[in-house]
Amino acid sequence: QAKMQGKNRLEQYDVQWEQSTRALTGKLQAIQQALLNEEFILYYQPKVNMAKGTVLGAEALIRWQKPGGDIVPPGAFLPAIQDHPLEIELGDWVIRTALAQAEAWHEQGLSLEVSVNVTSLQILEDSFISKLQAALDAHPGIAPEVLQIEILESSALHDLDKVSRVMQACRKLGVRFALDDFGTGFSSLSYLKHLPANVLKIDQSFVRNMLDDSDDLSIISGVVGMSQAFGLQVLAEGIETEQHGDLLLRLGCELGQGYGIARPMRAEDLPEWVRHWQASHAWREVKPVDFH
Ligand code: C2E
Ligand code: MG
Ligand code: MG
Ligand code: MG
Repeated sequence: QAKMQGKNRLEQYDVQWEQSTRALTGKLQAIQQALLNEEFILYYQPKVNMAKGTVLGAEALIRWQKPGGDIVPPGAFLPAIQDHPLEIELGDWVIRTALAQAEAWHEQGLSLEVSVNVTSLQILEDSFISKLQAALDAHPGIAPEVLQIEILESSALHDLDKVSRVMQACRKLGVRFALDDFGTGFSSLSYLKHLPANVLKIDQSFVRNMLDDSDDLSIISGVVGMSQAFGLQVLAEGIETEQHGDLLLRLGCELGQGYGIARPMRAEDLPEWVRHWQASHAWREVKPVDFH
């Protein structure tokens, strides 16, 4: 009897496993087809200097625009292509598209940095540097410094030696690096020494709770201190209100990004947004408040 149950359970497991692999295969195929059909689109979320009232650039965030018009967020399709060659194919597309966009803005008289998110699989692939070089060469209108590559702090730490070698090679090309979701990956000061990053992006979870959680406030304060010690830029993500922005400024973090500043938007909407935001924030003066 017990043996029978065990066998049934095993069979049930097999069926579920089969169904989930088939579903994954279906999704992979759909994503492959979507890439061919050019259904992917990059939205851009502005990155600003809150103290100076200037716009630094924008982060490219991928969306899947279904033929019916539905917009699918990255969290709903990127996991399905993890560790599949499509992860690299889509990643390459993101870099090429973001560079083309930065060049187009530049031609319209807007010099903006553009940030792209990458995975460690993507940047550790053998041909990553040569493809990056080719993509930069294809857009001679912009300097390589315009491109900023965001890698999750946690994945950078996971392959510390390999990732830092690739970062080094990219930096030789002029490309800049940010450690994304910083503060969640247990970076210590010594790890940071080995990663040639330019920017620390404070994870939005700390920013979200900073107004009522003193631990999160301390973490932010600590990351700002780390950035100063290493001569890095620091940028806060997930700024939803002016209160968040003001407190960050008092903590010494001038760079920010979040729904309170702007939601990710279509590329064609960005120039108008930049003009409007810079005009309305021109009055803002640097507030040198010593928080400590
Ligand atoms: P991320 O790089 O940390 O990007 C920030 C995410 O937070 C974005 O979500 C953005 O829309 C959202 N966000 C920005 N400001 C706020 C705010 O004030 N409040 C809240 N609640 N959310 C805010 P999104 O676009 O859904 O992207 C999620 C993640 O997917 C990204 O996190 C990034 O890790 C990944 N991702 C997005 N595009 C790409 C891509 O082209 N390639 C790769 N490899 N990953 C990508
Ligand atoms: Mg990012
Ligand atoms: Mg982030
Ligand atoms: Mg994130």
